[in-house]
Amino acid sequence: MKKNILIIHTGGTISMSEDNNGAVSPGKVNPLSSQTSTLSNLANFFLEEPFNWPSPHITSIEMMKLKKLIDAYTEKNLIDGVVITHGTDTLEETAYFLELTVKSEVPIVVTGAMRSSNEIGSDGLYNFISSVRVASSLEAIGKGVLVVLNDEIHTADNVTKTHTSDVSTFQSPQYGPIGIVTKRGVIFHHLPAKKEKYTISSADKKVVLIKAHAGMDSTLLYAIKEIGVEGVVIEALGQGNLPPSAVPGVISLIAQNIPVVLVSRCFNGIAQDIYSYEGGGRQLKDHGVIFSNGLNGQKARIKLLIALEETTEMTEIERMFQF
Ligand code: ASP
Repeated sequence: MKKNILIIHTGGTISMSEDNNGAVSPGKVNPLSSQTSTLSNLANFFLEEPFNWPSPHITSIEMMKLKKLIDAYTEKNLIDGVVITHGTDTLEETAYFLELTVKSEVPIVVTGAMRSSNEIGSDGLYNFISSVRVASSLEAIGKGVLVVLNDEIHTADNVTKTHTSDVSTFQSPQYGPIGIVTKRGVIFHHLPAKKEKYTISSADKKVVLIKAHAGMDSTLLYAIKEIGVEGVVIEALGQGNLPPSAVPGVISLIAQNIPVVLVSRCFNGIAQDIYSYEGGGRQLKDHGVIFSNGLNGQKARIKLLIALEETTEMTEIERMFQF
C-alpha cells in the first residue's frame, strides 16, 4: 500500500536554477513542486512550503517552525513519513535540531542537492526520490532523523557537509552511513545507537560558536561576555585544549553563568579532559568547561541552544552533553 508522505520544501540549491551567466538563485516557482505530482506512483503526498530560502538564511526559529509543522501532522496520525528538502549549507543543523526535538517515530528524511535543477548532472530530483523511498520504508521507522543524498543514508547525529561542491559531500566521519539506497530497495546495515529528546516550545537563545587557533587570546571571549550571549561553544584544539591566553576569558564567561561547551576542531574523535598543562583539557574541566561527546561545533551549538530552553543549571547542561 502507498504511504502518506509529508513533503516540506524549504529552499536551497535543490529548488534553484542556474542562469546563462552561471549564477544560481531561487525562482518564483519551486521546480520540485511541479515534479511531486509526477511521482504519485511512489506515495501519496501532503505538500508544505513554509518558506523558500537558501539555507544560510535559516535560523533556529525556522527549525522550530518545521518541528511544529511535523508535530501537527503526526499528532493527527496523517502521515507515515516526512521528507524535507533543504539547502545543504545548514542542512545538518536543521536535521540535528529535529533529531533532538521531534518525538514521533515516523521516518524523517532531510535531503538537498549540490547542483541546481537545470544543471547537467543535477542531483536534486534523484535525491528527492531516494528520500521518499527511505521515508516510505518500514525499516526507517524509529531510526531518528536521517539525511539521504547520493544513495547514502546518514544519521542526523553524525552527518556533516565535507566538500563545497562534490555531490558526495555528506559524510559521517568516524562512523560512516547507516544504510544505502539501491535500485531494488533501501538497506540499513547499522543501527543508530542513541536517542535523546528534549521538550521545548521556542528556540531563540543566543549561542555563539568560535574556533580556537594558535595564539588565541581572551579578547573575543571578553567581548562575547558583554553582548548578552547565553552560551558559547568553542571548537578547541586536538583532544580539547586551548592556548593559555584564552583561559581567563573562558573563566570569566563561566563566572557569569554562561556555559562554555568544548568540542574539537578535529573532525574525528571526542574532546576530553586529558592534558593537565595550562590550557589543557583537565584544567579547563576544573574551571567548569563542559565537554561534548563527539559533536561537531555547529551541532553542539544547536544542542546548547535547545538545552538552554530547558535549564540554565550548569550541572544539568553538563549531564545533557554526556550523551
Ligand atoms: N547555498 C546553498 C544552500 O544551502 C547550497 C545548497 O543548497 O546546496 O542553500
